[in-house]
Amino acid sequence: MKIKVLGCSGAEFPGRNPSSFLLDDKILFDAGSLTKVLDIEDQLKVENIFLTHAHLDHVIGIPFLLDNIAIGNIWHRVNIIGIPPVVKAIKKNILNNSIWPDFTVIPDNRNGIVSFTELKAGQSMKINRYMVTPYNVSHFVPATGYLVEDERKKRFFYTGDTGPTIDTWKKLGNREIHCLIIDVSFPNRMEEIAIKSGHLTPRLLEKELSKMKHLPERIYITHLKPQYYKTVKNELQRLKIKNLRLFRDGETINI
Ligand SMILES: [Zn+2]
Ligand SMILES: [Zn+2]
Repeated sequence: MKIKVLGCSGAEFPGRNPSSFLLDDKILFDAGSLTKVLDIEDQLKVENIFLTHAHLDHVIGIPFLLDNIAIGNIWHRVNIIGIPPVVKAIKKNILNNSIWPDFTVIPDNRNGIVSFTELKAGQSMKINRYMVTPYNVSHFVPATGYLVEDERKKRFFYTGDTGPTIDTWKKLGNREIHCLIIDVSFPNRMEEIAIKSGHLTPRLLEKELSKMKHLPERIYITHLKPQYYKTVKNELQRLKIKNLRLFRDGETINI
């Protein structure tokens, strides 16, 4: 499994791109950074986009991608996948012919550039050699993380945006997670804001990890607010958690 980090920032700053992770060039998890990062050839390789939730920093690349497809290769097709409230929010609030054209009916209404697939939490979908399953997380809008498993039973879990949760780890159960990509947005002193807005701090991360049945082999931190980057990095280092790293925009990891 090759994951390229198109963006892993909790805000948009020059050189800091919002959440977007590309699996094997074709499957995207969140679309906070897409057309600004990938050249047009690589944009046209994206076939499926799994959304964790409908917040702008996770979806803003979608309208621009669809426009680029319409101009660059009108026969390319993209499928957007998420839980029903997420799909509904994109249709109603973005591709609504007001903010952006409704690309489900372009070039014509039986053959739109974009289609949508709704998945319920816990419902798996097979894409290429992967099983992808959404699990509810704790954010202040409907949101899921995604468990991705390949045919070797190697797994990664991407939380999307999440605050403290018991249910997510319970539902993931006994399964070993080889790689965890998890939200840590704020420093410890902002715990109250983190919990209110559905995010984690280093201290809260430590508690979350203690709820998991097995500690993941590798842990990658995402969604840091660039304003607090140094503080959060120091606080994370002090936890002395084995194989924990901060993701960097543009890097590629293999699982
Ligand atoms: Zn969010
Ligand atoms: Zn976010």
